[in-house]
Amino acid sequence: MTILSNLIEENTAMTLQYRLIPVAIAMSAILSAAPVLGAGPNGRQPAQPVLSELDPGEAATLVFMREEERVARDVYLNMDALWQLLPFGNIAASEQKHMDAIKGAMDKYGLADPSNPDDIGIYFDGALQRLYTDLIDRGEGSYLAALQVGALIEEVDIEDNEVAIAATDNADLQTIYNNLLRGSRNHLRAFVAEIERQGVVYSAQHLTQEAVDTILDTPMERGGKAGGQGAGSQRLGMVEDAGIADQSGLTTRVERLIARNGSGAGNGSGSKSRKGGGTGDCRA
Ligand code: MN
Ligand code: MN
Repeated sequence: MTILSNLIEENTAMTLQYRLIPVAIAMSAILSAAPVLGAGPNGRQPAQPVLSELDPGEAATLVFMREEERVARDVYLNMDALWQLLPFGNIAASEQKHMDAIKGAMDKYGLADPSNPDDIGIYFDGALQRLYTDLIDRGEGSYLAALQVGALIEEVDIEDNEVAIAATDNADLQTIYNNLLRGSRNHLRAFVAEIERQGVVYSAQHLTQEAVDTILDTPMERGGKAGGQGAGSQRLGMVEDAGIADQSGLTTRVERLIARNGSGAGNGSGSKSRKGGGTGDCRA
């Protein structure tokens, strides 16, 4: 029903016949939309929820995207624990920021989380649940496989954010999705840079190769406001650029084409040794 189940069942690069939001989710999102009325903890009146500004599709998409971002975070946390190599830890922190940004909008519009964000690996959406299990299984195979999982997640997220942007006329949501989209493009660049450091030429897994190449051929994008207020924003800014440990690892399309046409590209047996001691780990 979703992209994600298509990925699992078909594993083909370009399946276009997906629906972003299962109907069940759309319904439950609406039904569980608990208006957050009443006085806040300090007697301060919370912002009035403005449910009427979102149509059911926009609301369902927002709730779904929160869980989809969480799949990314949860997979990367697992991969970070398993492989303890960049860029998983940093990008997981970035996904947390994306989750938080969506939560801000959900609160504003009176939408409740369909699942507990602290329950890593447990999702309301069945397709996301299956996706998580499948990706963890794949990512446990090798560091390279884990990186490919990361790149796949980002390709899917890019498409979903683009679909979500096109499907709403709400400026708040468009801003959030655009920030997430930019983050995903950076994350894809970071994962591919690391994949190619393993001696493997990256092939698109979900988007078209052309779309992926266009992203990879453009440099890392600096964040917009990214919700960064006050303390820690510099660190968060680093996280947003996560995995960008070594910009020189970003190959150009020409370089990748050369690699492709050169000596037997990509058998996945590249050395796991880390070149150049990336300095992008700002988890400290
Ligand atoms: Mn994200
Ligand atoms: Mn991401």
